[in-house]
Amino acid sequence: MAGTHWTALRDVLPAYQRIMTVSVGSGRDTSFWHDTWLAEGPLAELLLAIYNNFHGRAMSVHDVMEAGLHNLLQHRLTPQAATELQHPEDLLQNVSLDDSPDQRESFFQGNGHRLKSGIIYRASTRGDHVCASFTFVWCNFAPPQVKFFIWLLTQDRIQCRSSLLCKNIVDDANCAICGEAVETADHIVLGCRFVHSFWTRIGWVPTDIAEVKQLWLSQAPPRIHKDVAHPFILLCCWEIWKHRNDVIFKGLPPSVDRLTTACRQSVCS
Ligand SMILES: [Zn+2]
Repeated sequence: MAGTHWTALRDVLPAYQRIMTVSVGSGRDTSFWHDTWLAEGPLAELLLAIYNNFHGRAMSVHDVMEAGLHNLLQHRLTPQAATELQHPEDLLQNVSLDDSPDQRESFFQGNGHRLKSGIIYRASTRGDHVCASFTFVWCNFAPPQVKFFIWLLTQDRIQCRSSLLCKNIVDDANCAICGEAVETADHIVLGCRFVHSFWTRIGWVPTDIAEVKQLWLSQAPPRIHKDVAHPFILLCCWEIWKHRNDVIFKGLPPSVDRLTTACRQSVCS
């Protein structure tokens, strides 16, 4: 397709894809690599080595899932791509497509799915005028995939087991770590007995962690400076989520020691 308007639209597509998330139905209208349709963020950024070894970078989620990711890779992979190859299998094993249309949503979206251009402008030019949740999620030094995960978390939209049960993807919504309660986003971050032990270990009173929809209201321990408290809680929540995934998808045992070490490395990197 050619023409001035099409060229202009194509130029703003990457920016559009950065601010939109997609709930996939059929996956036919969603870019496998460039749209944000998984909690971890755009796969082209998360799995750069595999992306560089991939045929058909403009393919939809539907087409890649139907053809099989492995069948679309170059025959001779770079060592980095070969190392990354386990990661997409973990990411994609819970993906299920149906016949419903893909739905795009955005933090910047108002009623009637209209983008609020004023918010986008202020967010991109005047950080002192945006709301507390926006500052908490986006205005910090955490990596992009962490910010996006936290955005989903604060929207209570991560793929926890209670959410997967509603979509008929799992049969049991109980927490895989403690087995004592339904696994909601709040349970993962602050309700689970295991995660209580983690927050206590790092010197953070668990009851000072706010519910996920108001996570930025969490009270930091006195020894943590307020300027680093928010990035710190972002990275901890991200590591809690990855730890939870390792338990469920890789069969690793829950370990406060391992989680604490991962957080320390994440904060120091
Ligand atoms: Zn639990």
